[in-house]
Amino acid sequence: MASKPLEPIRKALNNWYLAALRPLPWRSTGDPYAIWVSEVMLQQTQVITVIPYYHRFLERFPDLESLASADQEAVLKLWEGLGYYARARNLHKASAIVLSEFGGKVPETYKAFRSLPGVGEYIAAAVLSIAFGKPYAVVDGNVKRVLARLFLLAAPVNVAASHKVFKEKADLLLDADAPQVFNQAMMELGATVCTPKNPLCGECPVRTFCAALKAGETDGYPKRKETKKVPEHQLAVAVIGKDGKLLITRRQENGLLGGLWEFPGGRLKTRETAEDACIREIRNAVNLEIEVLSHLTRVRHAYTHFRIVVDVFRCEYLAGEVELDGPSDHRWILPAQIGDFPFHGANHKFIPMLQEP
Ligand code: SF4
Repeated sequence: MASKPLEPIRKALNNWYLAALRPLPWRSTGDPYAIWVSEVMLQQTQVITVIPYYHRFLERFPDLESLASADQEAVLKLWEGLGYYARARNLHKASAIVLSEFGGKVPETYKAFRSLPGVGEYIAAAVLSIAFGKPYAVVDGNVKRVLARLFLLAAPVNVAASHKVFKEKADLLLDADAPQVFNQAMMELGATVCTPKNPLCGECPVRTFCAALKAGETDGYPKRKETKKVPEHQLAVAVIGKDGKLLITRRQENGLLGGLWEFPGGRLKTRETAEDACIREIRNAVNLEIEVLSHLTRVRHAYTHFRIVVDVFRCEYLAGEVELDGPSDHRWILPAQIGDFPFHGANHKFIPMLQEP
């Protein structure tokens, strides 16, 4: 049941949102499928990045049927560059399940919707509240920051065990009569006013209720637990040429960057040079003997829990038939065909060098 003393906060938030909301493309639709697509894309990704992907995706897959009947590779190609590719694979799988088990309609009950691949607590609350007006509070990074400051919650936001604290507070504050407005108001406030650094408290609709502002502690909240340094891995990658074509391999479907294509390679062993690792990895992963011709470039890329430094080598095929140990598929392609395949971000950092005349 909604808590009465919190009513003025709800009111202030909702009124502010209805007047200040940014006209984002997914806010002008009532289609649960389109709202679902937008929320999946918005997880871990900024609004400005999502907008063109959202338009392209819905143009190509305007409804659940078109998505469910597409090849996974076509879905990944449209997702290329957005990262966190499991989101795309799960959305694709879920669309087929909605067609076969829910009569083609996005399920409206929490239990049924959460049973779908990729639908966690956040997606369920966001889609069910925004599309169907169901009273579930969303709790994402923006919402946690707002709650931490409004109520001086000291639970560190980057610790999993703290989630419960924020969830309980969000449930208590939720406006169960207008959850679609309230949830979007909380997220919008965190994204545009109650920002991580230098929050715009002077423009904030709930400043008179904010405990952090009252205490002069807006910079001190939310609390974060100090984390260990992110590990860095060294990799070597081979661009292998044979009769004008290049070898690419496909990653196993389950796992990091699953189903995406890449130039083959792998991690260096202790005290191994990048060049030696390149030759060894190619022998192990695709059973080919190669000669390293030159060092093409070095690229760096960051993932959530680690970083990689990749030495990329131009190589020449010497001998052998491709036999895969690790990758799920391979192709010999012309440089002009690279754009036909979905590659992950680290490869995109050197691909333009392969396409130069
Ligand atoms: Fe955030 Fe400032 Fe508003 Fe408090 S007053 S919720 S710190 S923007």
